[in-house]
Amino acid sequence: MWGGYPEHWQSYAGLVIKNDDALGNNQRISLLNYRNALAKLNQPVDKHEWWMTPQTVNAVNLPLQNGMNFPAAILLPPFFDPAADPVSNYGSIGSIIGHEISHSFDATGALFDAEGKYLNWWKPDDLAFRLGHDAPDRTRALRLLKGRQVLDENIADLAGLAAAYDG
Ligand SMILES: [Zn+2]
Repeated sequence: MWGGYPEHWQSYAGLVIKNDDALGNNQRISLLNYRNALAKLNQPVDKHEWWMTPQTVNAVNLPLQNGMNFPAAILLPPFFDPAADPVSNYGSIGSIIGHEISHSFDATGALFDAEGKYLNWWKPDDLAFRLGHDAPDRTRALRLLKGRQVLDENIADLAGLAAAYDG
């Protein structure tokens, strides 16, 4: 579930793709995705489900799964190069991995326990550190772009870089 590609591939059985019907293709794919989402209702969380394709250059933390996806495409240069100096890899894919791990400890990560259950596991002191009256002073430098809207992303970037630097 962590890197490269999923253990089980999503089924596209029954999906009709036509060379001359881009709109229809999009509508049929949207309908398939909608039906797949509905089928998940009242079912246990699939801890192995991937939320990105292997071709996607991105990464994601998945609180319900207590996992992360690092698609194959982000495990290539310039983000990761097995022939590169390790310092370079720490600074690129290392900081990305650190970023995603830090999301397990941000305001959203606080809401999900180690089993992925919706259960705030933070102690009152933890909440006060993150959300208390003096928290804005500590996070002021990280709120310059879009304020609180991207605060967790900015914190994750900083945490990822700090962890990569420590490494
Ligand atoms: Zn992030």
